[in-house]
Amino acid sequence: MRYGLISDIHGNQEAFEAVLNALKEERIDTIWCLGDVVGYGANPNECLELVWGLTTDVIAGNHDFAAVGKVDLTYFNRNAAEAALWTMQNLTRDGRHYLSNLPFEIKQDNILAVHATPSEPEKWGYILSSPQATLEFHALPDDVSVCFVGHTHNPVIFRDHDGICSEVPGNQCQLNADCRYIVNVGSVGQPRDGDPRAAYCVYDSDNAQVEIKRIIYDVETAQQKIRSACLPDFLATRLAIGR
Ligand code: ZN
Repeated sequence: MRYGLISDIHGNQEAFEAVLNALKEERIDTIWCLGDVVGYGANPNECLELVWGLTTDVIAGNHDFAAVGKVDLTYFNRNAAEAALWTMQNLTRDGRHYLSNLPFEIKQDNILAVHATPSEPEKWGYILSSPQATLEFHALPDDVSVCFVGHTHNPVIFRDHDGICSEVPGNQCQLNADCRYIVNVGSVGQPRDGDPRAAYCVYDSDNAQVEIKRIIYDVETAQQKIRSACLPDFLATRLAIGR
């Protein structure tokens, strides 16, 4: 089975369409969306409609819940809060209803997907380092060997072997049956690892291979739309630098 894993689209239609085109070339069997379809970008409704045509395997991100009043905006920085309010005001009724009902996780066989952390997905914590990943490996159900996450917008693969956690160098990995993995699939619509290209992940369960891929997209148009919508200018400028 070949899985396409996408996360943190954040209303960036140009980035999302580029990733969808790339996924068409990947012989994907199923697509999972790991949350934050909306927030920051100028096309929340368009991105939701693209998701609806794509998959029913979708989980909630903190920005999805913020846009429907299920996450308190006091936890957000100023730009994020302003964008969340804008999204709230611009969402369609169908979009609001859909986002309100998203689950916190998807689990299938030995694969788990959450937006933030497997230990407490509803608290929106971050896995930024091997020590933090170690705690999350402890919290994984015994039958889970691969956990996919998003939320940080930083693609990374953590490996746990006999209780010792390390970061896998590079953007791909041959999965070892003796190890467990937490894979951050990166962000489609607002990468923050210094690479402005949209990120997505392909997991081939038959060949036990995972790879995080990148694709260029029309950043300028996404920026123009953010500016035309009078969203904070920083949300446009950051797209060009991937921060
Ligand atoms: Zn996000």
